[in-house]
Amino acid sequence: MYMETKLLTSSAADLALAAELLQNGKRVIFPTETVYGLGANALDPDAVRSIFEAKGRPSDNPLIVHIAELSQVEEIAEEIPEKAKLLMDKFWPGPLTIILKRKSIIPNEVTAGLNTVGIRMPENEIARELLSLAKVPVAAPSANISGRPSPTDAKYVIEDMNGRVEAIIDGGNCTVGVESTVIDMTSPIPTILRPGGVTAEEISALLGEVLGGKEKAENKETPKAPGMKYTHYAPSVPVRILRGSIAQIESFLAKRENAGILTFDEFNLNTEAKQISLGSINNPKECAKNLFRSLRDMEKLGVCEIFAPEIGNDGLWSAIKNRLYKSAGGNIINATYKEIIFVCTGNTCRSPMAECFFNSLPNKGYWGTSAGIFAQNGQKASENSILSMKEYGIDIKSHLSKPLTPKMIERAELILTMTKSHKNALLGLNNSLSGKVMTLSEFAGEDGEIPDPFGGDLDTYRSCAKEIKRLVKKAYDRL
Ligand code: AMP
Ligand code: MG
Repeated sequence: MYMETKLLTSSAADLALAAELLQNGKRVIFPTETVYGLGANALDPDAVRSIFEAKGRPSDNPLIVHIAELSQVEEIAEEIPEKAKLLMDKFWPGPLTIILKRKSIIPNEVTAGLNTVGIRMPENEIARELLSLAKVPVAAPSANISGRPSPTDAKYVIEDMNGRVEAIIDGGNCTVGVESTVIDMTSPIPTILRPGGVTAEEISALLGEVLGGKEKAENKETPKAPGMKYTHYAPSVPVRILRGSIAQIESFLAKRENAGILTFDEFNLNTEAKQISLGSINNPKECAKNLFRSLRDMEKLGVCEIFAPEIGNDGLWSAIKNRLYKSAGGNIINATYKEIIFVCTGNTCRSPMAECFFNSLPNKGYWGTSAGIFAQNGQKASENSILSMKEYGIDIKSHLSKPLTPKMIERAELILTMTKSHKNALLGLNNSLSGKVMTLSEFAGEDGEIPDPFGGDLDTYRSCAKEIKRLVKKAYDRL
């Protein structure tokens, strides 16, 4: 439901108004040093539910509770370990969320039913002032539509949230730019659940042994199945992590159209792809600050795919790496992979299914993509395709359709079509392609075709997906 959203400044009068809104169970978006937060009174279950509504956030994802004073910790948590107190002393106010055992004053809506609660005291002056005036703990997730990159400037908040909340406070740019580190202090050994603004190194220098906090090294032989996890922090254009030397990346990009790439100042890529630099490769703070802005700005440049650099795991880089991996949904490709293009008509059902099934198999030096002979640019996969792929744990929500172009045909190692008429259409365009274009069934050593499920019910799509999975595996075994 659309509502009038008040756009507020950080003036004393506006902050007083915002605090009053919070006390009355309303939602206020406010700046913090990490990202903007979508806040409501953490002690009011209805107010907390309205946060989930505004974001479209799944209700099983708990919220962080923000406080202004140390004395508030005891009101909402119990059994506070000595080591947690050390963390508060050293890193609060700041980008660290501490998970403690909760008191019953915190409603289930905040913690998604867990018996723990995440607490943070932010450092941003506007946030501190607002929390002091509100006099209640404030539950606040990042102020983006669920799944999108977190907003680090009021203009991105307005993009996502205008009309969905009662008020937005414009506090300029966020200085840290990635979310807080989340550390569980209820486990026997402190465990970092999410890397963020405070690094694992800083924490273990204070506490000794600490678990978690690093994105696991990817096994090169079997990269994580693309799309196997839900994407998060994702712009509306698919993101992929691109591995390779500068020269390999340049020659990879030279074969693509309408690509965008996030780079570093030092890279100086020679490419026609749209580039946005995260900052200096020697300055993780700068890169963290620019990260979400760069993802949001990249989608506005009209690119149809975004590549992001592979980065290390030290210090603050691990938080940046974690966000980029999640925005890519685990899709990691190597600039030297050979490309197999799966082709159907509209690139919204059969070929995206084939692409994702192929990429979920252990990597053999090939990368599956897809396109359509009569496809438009930028259509989402059909609803029934999304649902039937979800049953295999594969998320194709971020797929966008694209037409097969001469440049794609040229760079492909192999083009596998769903039907004979797709194949004949391509050979009609260019007879010299005969070695490169086959139907998927033919390449798998069979004779049939994969009919278009378009307009069919979910069961039609299910059996289409099942058949494509079987043929893709057979084709893969023949590579
Ligand atoms: P966001 O609000 O978007 O920054 O996300 C909050 C993060 O904190 C999510 O990753 C939550 O899963 C995590 N979180 C909040 N409270 C808890 C808790 N009690 N236990 C574990 N994780 C939590
Ligand atoms: Mg978030």
